[in-house]
Amino acid sequence: MKEQEKVMLTGVRPSGNITLGNYLGAIKNFVVRQSLYKSYIFVADLHAITSPRNPEELRNAVNDCMAMYLACGVDPNQTIIFRQSDVLEHGVLGFIMTFQTHMGELSRMTQFKLKSQTCGKHGIDTGLFVYPPLMSADILLYNTSIVPVGLDQQQHVELTRDLAQRFNRRYGDTFKEPDVYIAPVGNKILNLQNPTEKMNKSDGQNMGTIFLMDDLKLVRKKIMAAVTDSETVIHFDEEQKPGISNLISILSAITGEDIPSIEKRFEGRGYGDFKREVADVVCHLLEKIQANYQKFKNPEILDDILNDGAKKARIVASETLERAKLALGLK
Ligand code: AMP
Repeated sequence: MKEQEKVMLTGVRPSGNITLGNYLGAIKNFVVRQSLYKSYIFVADLHAITSPRNPEELRNAVNDCMAMYLACGVDPNQTIIFRQSDVLEHGVLGFIMTFQTHMGELSRMTQFKLKSQTCGKHGIDTGLFVYPPLMSADILLYNTSIVPVGLDQQQHVELTRDLAQRFNRRYGDTFKEPDVYIAPVGNKILNLQNPTEKMNKSDGQNMGTIFLMDDLKLVRKKIMAAVTDSETVIHFDEEQKPGISNLISILSAITGEDIPSIEKRFEGRGYGDFKREVADVVCHLLEKIQANYQKFKNPEILDDILNDGAKKARIVASETLERAKLALGLK
């Protein structure tokens, strides 16, 4: 493959509102690096239909998700922003990559094991099972070097590397093997009410999840009501003190202050004081994002950006797909 500038890519499913976990685990890490790479970010709408969705809701969610990327600092002058389903190559390469994958590999995916437990009586959707090879296609189409994601997606990027290697071995050098980027702090933000579980979009309107569009009074209430422990020491210990450690991670990931410095600053001070500071910092961040969001929530601006992004993305994606088809003997 010819030498080219390094590529960074990430995506977020347009399902429900974006959470503080999505922001700290993926979007923020993308935004601060977007000028260093040839950058792509996409709204993963094909991943949103792995389970049945209301079409009108999905359409609105795509626009909301896009406006939120822009509000969080994704810059269309530096980054190619597109909707996954606008670039048909994702579907075709996803299909091809599914055929490179073993059943055992997909059954071992932690996200599949976790999510399949909560499926209703209609059973497990195959979408939940086969979405990792689609994610591999999303990454491989753009010759990606680095994929900033939260800890929950690390295994899927590792699978992508395995599939790329397998394909290259079988059919000749076709795909670039990507590296995952996991932020040292904020890679797994936990539910504020149940700090042994990840903060999830699908947790709905409960008190454990902070959505970027939450009313700021509610955000403060959620943080002040966060489950902690019966001690009074502000100390980072994920095993013994998951609630406090989660709040320390949130504070550190937003401000950049390191964990020992936070612990030192709060020596001898109570949980109330600490939570108030976390709430101030989170509210300050969300206030800025929410103000930006209102500016960007304009369907015309969003359509222009998405159309332009899809055009640029298609050029690279079609080249990669052609290369893969040629390697497979499909041309
Ligand atoms: P999803 O909500 O599954 O579309 O996830 C989009 C991105 O956000 C992925 O990179 C996830 O790894 C990341 N992410 C989701 N939830 C969290 C969380 N609670 N903490 C850190 N990163 C997260």
